[in-house]
Amino acid sequence: MDYPGNLFVVAAPSGAGKSSLVKALMELDSQVQPSISHTTRAPRGQERHGREYYFVSEQEFDAMVLADAFVEWAFVHGRRYGTSKRAIEERIAQGADVILEIDYQGALQIKRIFANAVLVFILPPSWDELRSRLERRGEDSPEVIELRLKNAAEELSKAPEFDFVIINELFERALFDLKAIVHAQRLKYSAQRRARAETFQALNIP
Ligand code: 5GP
Repeated sequence: MDYPGNLFVVAAPSGAGKSSLVKALMELDSQVQPSISHTTRAPRGQERHGREYYFVSEQEFDAMVLADAFVEWAFVHGRRYGTSKRAIEERIAQGADVILEIDYQGALQIKRIFANAVLVFILPPSWDELRSRLERRGEDSPEVIELRLKNAAEELSKAPEFDFVIINELFERALFDLKAIVHAQRLKYSAQRRARAETFQALNIP
């Protein structure tokens, strides 16, 4: 499938700092827009319907699956999460860059459908650091932290299937890396050809 915008998919085990990095990137670069997923989990803290997620019931999610409304969906930590076609197709068709913050199962599904999607995996610098970040975050009970760490081992084994890897040891460095990936993607021949059509024309380049 060809489209003018870029699709970036960022995956990481929870606690690797994925959300903070994506948020910081979007604050610096208004051309990058988020894809808002649907989920059957309940909102946490300050989360709002339509901002972090569309929070839906199991029945609503089922209906969307039946209506073929998702590009991908998966069970993550026992809840369902999905990227709707609406969340991305219109925007990339109009030339926006869309960033998806989803789990590895979703990322790999996206790559099958959108071969040009850029898959980025965020790694923590070590297991110890991942554990202490989850503990410091204070959002989860010890049992949930153990579950998240167990899931992380499975998630990390999928890293070789991604295009890029960022090790989030120093936040600023990791953000620089993410910006570099986005920037490099925009400098690809096909992207430049689209964005600067008049220059190519004037230079008589195909
Ligand atoms: P959380 O509940 O902490 O917001 O997210 C749990 C996990 O689900 C994270 O790894 C997050 O990236 C992933 N996730 C969020 N939205 C989607 C989605 O639309 N599809 C898939 N496959 N995973 C998602």
